[in-house]
Amino acid sequence: MATVIDGKAVSAKMREEIAEEVKEFVEKHGRAPSLTVIIVGEDPASQVYVRNKEKACIQTGIRSEIIRLPADTGEEELLCRIDELNGDENVNGILVQLPLPDHIDEKNIICRISPKKDVDAFGYENVGRIMTGEYDFLPCTPAGVMELLRRYGISPAGKECVVLGRSNIVGKPMAMLLMHGNGTVTVCHSKTKDLSSHTKRADILVSAIGRAKFVKADMIKEGAVVIDVGINRDEDGRLCGDVDYEGCFDKAAAITPVPGGVGPMTVTMLLKNTLTAAKKQI
Ligand code: NDP
Repeated sequence: MATVIDGKAVSAKMREEIAEEVKEFVEKHGRAPSLTVIIVGEDPASQVYVRNKEKACIQTGIRSEIIRLPADTGEEELLCRIDELNGDENVNGILVQLPLPDHIDEKNIICRISPKKDVDAFGYENVGRIMTGEYDFLPCTPAGVMELLRRYGISPAGKECVVLGRSNIVGKPMAMLLMHGNGTVTVCHSKTKDLSSHTKRADILVSAIGRAKFVKADMIKEGAVVIDVGINRDEDGRLCGDVDYEGCFDKAAAITPVPGGVGPMTVTMLLKNTLTAAKKQI
């Protein structure tokens, strides 16, 4: 029977720690760290994500501002908004909620955010820093996974680590962080041949592919640590991960549930990055 890696509990504990640090920051500097989120258009999922970020900020005492722009906002206008926020010393973190409407080039927007305020760590400078290991910010989801491993006493050092997925926001940085943690890392993707031959070798398996219940018990090693980043809907419309949780539960040594695993950690790491940004900007 696996240990359940409880992201909800870890996240709650971390938010208490962050709230304490925010309080100290306010006492010392007379103002709270601040995060500005820009959302363009009406995408319902994005609206929910932004509301969750706002709630989490309020919970920890971080000041948040949401800038809501219409779907037909031009790229130049958005770039101007970012320039203003870059120059505003009362703004510590800037986040542009993705996806953006098709007429806007996401790369241009993300890379315009000052690297010191890029709390998603998606801009080229912060991506480069992840490669070299000299970073202030890490992308929130892979950072959340590393924090979960750390708090459950699971070290990647010397382990076979297999990452499913190679996106810029999850799979690639995840692989890099596991490598920085001295794991031996294999990255699999949709063109990987004989996926199971890789997953079965994994001491630590991280799945971020966005396929409901794709990872079955016969694809994992006995005693593996299974981290499920995926957020999907099953055939009944219920939230589920990439991993067949019930099927893998008895075989894994530790496993994250969905919901309640990696998900809550993502927003928590954003709060942590905002606090770090504020401290660095003093
Ligand atoms: P992307 O769609 O950007 O990337 C998916 C990756 O999975 C790609 O590299 C793709 O390969 C690979 N892939 C897809 N199907 C297969 C397959 N059958 N076998 C092997 N590899 C496959 O997704 P994201 O990285 O943005 O997100 C992944 C999942 O994580 C989603 O469910 C998303 O909702 C969730 N997510 C959860 C977060 C959280 O906070 N918990 C945060 C961010 C994402 P290829 O490159 O060859 O196309």
